[in-house]
Amino acid sequence: MRRKLVVGNWKMNGNLAALAEVSAIADAHRRAPGVDVAICPPFTLIAPAIARAQGMPIGAQDCHSKECGAYTGNICAPMLREIGARLVIVGHSERRQFHHETNEEVRAKAQAAVAAGLQAIICVGETESEREAGRAVAVVTEQLAGSVPDHAPDGDIVVAYEPIWAIGTGRTATCEDVGEMHAAIRAHLKQRFGEWGALVRILYGGSVRPDNAAELFAVGDVDGALVGGCSLTAAQFVPIIEAASRQ
Ligand code: PEP
Repeated sequence: MRRKLVVGNWKMNGNLAALAEVSAIADAHRRAPGVDVAICPPFTLIAPAIARAQGMPIGAQDCHSKECGAYTGNICAPMLREIGARLVIVGHSERRQFHHETNEEVRAKAQAAVAAGLQAIICVGETESEREAGRAVAVVTEQLAGSVPDHAPDGDIVVAYEPIWAIGTGRTATCEDVGEMHAAIRAHLKQRFGEWGALVRILYGGSVRPDNAAELFAVGDVDGALVGGCSLTAAQFVPIIEAASRQ
């Protein structure tokens, strides 16, 4: 019912030479037709990545919530759509932490993305201290309530659960914890949106690697992955795509 989706988040990494990796990943994607794959490089690499991607979706890591205006340094969703981007990550924990983005801003960005015809990948996740305090599900549920637009069924929304303490640390949540959280996210989406809530894909993110991808993809309600470090090279990203295609 829900196709697996594997998205690479290159963060502030990559250059024109690195686009050879996009070509190699796109080749692998053609050999794994049952899986959806996308790469989100830095803004400057989106257009040249599209030229290399052989139809594989390319997206951005952020967008502004407004369509135009005096917002120096920002990029809006219609600009991304115009150059051929197909998706955008919003509310990544690094945006929430370093740019102080609130749930309300993330929701507005998701709305803007959907209005422009982009798939919006909305990130949520708890800190280590919140998990240790037994508040992980409550924190993520609150983020979902604030960040997912009320008219979500009008657009293509994906939720990415990314425990902050697992991002870029080499530490991965246990399959049990991931299963519990994804079930809670699914319950929230169904309760809020009915049938449509069962169709939304929920990705796990946080140190997904070739050696742990298969076991994570086997967990209930894990519909794919948002991958940082291991998406930068085809050598590491392709085995993750292949693990998704074997599910
Ligand atoms: C991310 O940046 O969303 C991420 C999950 O990073 P990493 O895979 O490196 O932990």
